[in-house]
Amino acid sequence: MDYDTYGSTAVELAIDLANADLAPDDGVARFLASHDEWFATGTSLDLTPADVEKAAVTARLVRAVALAESQDDVLTRLNELLALARPRPYATDHDGELHLHYAGPDAPALEQLTTTVAMGLSQVVVQHGWQRLGVCSAEGCDDVYVDTSRNASRRYCSNTCASRSTVAAYRARQKS
Ligand SMILES: [Zn+2]
Ligand SMILES: [Zn+2]
Repeated sequence: MDYDTYGSTAVELAIDLANADLAPDDGVARFLASHDEWFATGTSLDLTPADVEKAAVTARLVRAVALAESQDDVLTRLNELLALARPRPYATDHDGELHLHYAGPDAPALEQLTTTVAMGLSQVVVQHGWQRLGVCSAEGCDDVYVDTSRNASRRYCSNTCASRSTVAAYRARQKS
């Protein structure tokens, strides 16, 4: 699959956010700290409680997009997410490669997060189809994923879940 580099990694940020455990009090702060390479230098990652709640809303919307089962549902949920974005594209070569960022470098952390996530997810959906997003088929896992495989054959969130399910299926066959 031929993603543009930034679009592709931006969707990974969206997927990471949807799968992150944001429930603990410091859940959102931990997520931001472990993804700080996404924020422009000098951005304060200290969110107000209201912003923490908004980050959780963004995470839920990403998940809702991935779980949607029709194009209509995807569009409704995606547009809800996009309504939260404040895109202000700018070109940069901060990592040595010329590319576009979706959010302004001086925007607050929440705005950078929501905008990057919404734009990255939308980019993949409109370019590659909404079926590229899904939820893990492994028992006991409900993480979402983006399918970047050539033939759109992905069913699991990770190699761990894929091999766990292969082993479980093998054992089930042995028994019967
Ligand atoms: Zn960049
Ligand atoms: Zn999984």
